[in-house]
Amino acid sequence: MHDCLFCKIAAKAIPAKVVYEDDLILAFDDIRPMAPVHTLIIPKEHFASLNEVPAEKAGLLAHVLVKAKEIAALKGVATTGYRVVLNTARDSGQEVLHIHFHILGGRPMLWPPG
Ligand code: 5GP
Ligand code: ZN
Repeated sequence: MHDCLFCKIAAKAIPAKVVYEDDLILAFDDIRPMAPVHTLIIPKEHFASLNEVPAEKAGLLAHVLVKAKEIAALKGVATTGYRVVLNTARDSGQEVLHIHFHILGGRPMLWPPG
């Protein structure tokens, strides 16, 4: 297995609170939530960040966003509002080098983000 935390979660080698799963993606709650709702969506295929996703995978990225709104609804924040965050590379604060989308909601979000 790829030596990557989120690949291990995708392979169920490390437990996580799974919110949604299909052939392409896994969604699970963040271990250190920054909001009442804080869920991560990962593609099961490993890409270190958005920078490594090739154009041929545009459909995969679209799939993540289509499912993000469904997951927001599952978590009860579709109407009240939520933020989808994709940190990419050093200055963004990306810590886990397997692309992941944060879904944050359940409280008002600040703008601009820090
Ligand atoms: P980043 O800063 O890379 O955009 O976000 C990484 C996120 O992964 C953080 O919000 C962090 O709390 C979360 N995280 C790190 N390790 C684990 C883990 O083992 N399990 C889960 N569920 N979340 C994790
Ligand atoms: Zn990975």
